[in-house]
Amino acid sequence: MLTVIDGWLVCPRCRRNKRLLRINPDTTARHLEVYCRTCKSRIIVDIERGQSFESQSP
Ligand SMILES: [Zn+2]
Repeated sequence: MLTVIDGWLVCPRCRRNKRLLRINPDTTARHLEVYCRTCKSRIIVDIERGQSFESQSP
């Protein structure tokens, strides 16, 4: 499970970017690609009602 602080997803790669993506309690998404400009990596996330997971499928 990914870290969300004050409604913002923290980048799981560098953990320095604390505003990777806005997560609302009712946010739901599948295979959403987010790009971290701090460490220049792409992360695919699944969000289930505000709970964020890194997608394991390629
Ligand atoms: Zn990052």
